[in-house]
Parts: sequence; structure tokens; C-alpha cells
Amino acid sequence: MSRILTLSVRCAVCGQTSEQTVTASRYVPDHGLDGKPAGNAPGMPVMECSHCHHAAADLADPVPETVRTYVYSDGYRHWYASQTDPILRQLEGAALIAAQTDLVTAARWHLAAAWYCEDHAMPDRAEQNRRQYLEMTLASGCKLTPDGMLPYLDSLRLLGRFEEARALAGQLQPAFARLFEEQDIHRKILQLELHLIESGDAAPHMVSEVM
Ligand SMILES: [Zn+2]
Repeated sequence: MSRILTLSVRCAVCGQTSEQTVTASRYVPDHGLDGKPAGNAPGMPVMECSHCHHAAADLADPVPETVRTYVYSDGYRHWYASQTDPILRQLEGAALIAAQTDLVTAARWHLAAAWYCEDHAMPDRAEQNRRQYLEMTLASGCKLTPDGMLPYLDSLRLLGRFEEARALAGQLQPAFARLFEEQDIHRKILQLELHLIESGDAAPHMVSEVM
């Protein structure tokens, strides 16, 4: 069971306080090859300020001036007003805001938004968010860790981009062989990915399949 906590949080953008409900971390025993928690569990908990509509993992985290400017901008205001799904608005809003300063975090929000859309029958928007996750991860220039590589690889496969997925998996194989023992979960997942890519399988698969 997850525990819901209510906290009073002061927003780093507008300085006002709002009540935020936070789901205390809960153990999810299985997840997709892209990191998606099993059974509709939220991918990334998000807070939204009820005053200025800043959205982030923690509203109290200090923000640079570029973020404050963006939250108060007409662009963000108009985008916010045009959204109909309040949860998706928080996740995509957090992505838009994070993209002002931190593409790695923005990419993660897009992935969480993709998961939400998949669970709520919005396949086009899911695909769009997953593409943005890939693009922003690349654009960040950040070197992915092995744990970050596997969701990236899985997202290529889930989007049906098998040629790119095959090329990346081929690059990962010798690296993983150096880094991990043969029975290590990373190598098992990579083997499963290679099999799925060769089979042209673009369906979600779970980590439990290799455990
Ligand atoms: Zn605020």
C-alpha cells in the first residue's frame, strides 16, 4: 500500500505556499524494460503550485531566473490554459519548465508523461512524449549510464525504430560484456532486447521476463 502525505510547500518561483499531496515511496516489484513501474504506478511524483503553476518534483527547490521567467511567460500560460488532462498537464508542464535549464530532467518528465498517456488511452501523445524523451536525452549531450542506456534502447524498440535499436544494442554488447558478469541483469535485458529487435517486437515487456 502506498501512503499519501499532505505537505505545505513554499513555491520557489512565486514564494506562495500550497498544499501538496505526496505519495510516499512504495515498492514496485516489477517494471518495464524502459523503467515503467508495473500496474499504473506513477512514474515520477510531480508537484504543481496552485498559484503560479510551476511544476517540478519539489516546488521548494531553488530555481534560476530563466525558470521564473518561463513560468510567468505568455507561452507557458497559454499552453497551460489549453490543456484538458490535469495530470498530463503537470507532467508535460514539468518537462517544459525543466527544459529551460536541464534537458536530462526534462527528458525524464517526457518519459513519465509517455507512460501516463499509455495507461490512459492516448497513444499519439504517448509516442510524441517518448520521441521527446529520446531527442532531449540526445540533445543533453549527457553520457548515459548502463541503467540509462537500457530504457533509451527500449524506447527505440517501442517506437518501432528497429534499425537504430539494433545499432545501439550492437554497440552496447561489447561494453556490457566488459562491465558485467554473464548472469548480470543488464546483460540479460540486453539479450532480451536483441531477441525482441530481431523479432520485430514493438510491444512492452517486463524485467521479470529475464529474472
Ligand atoms: Zn508558485
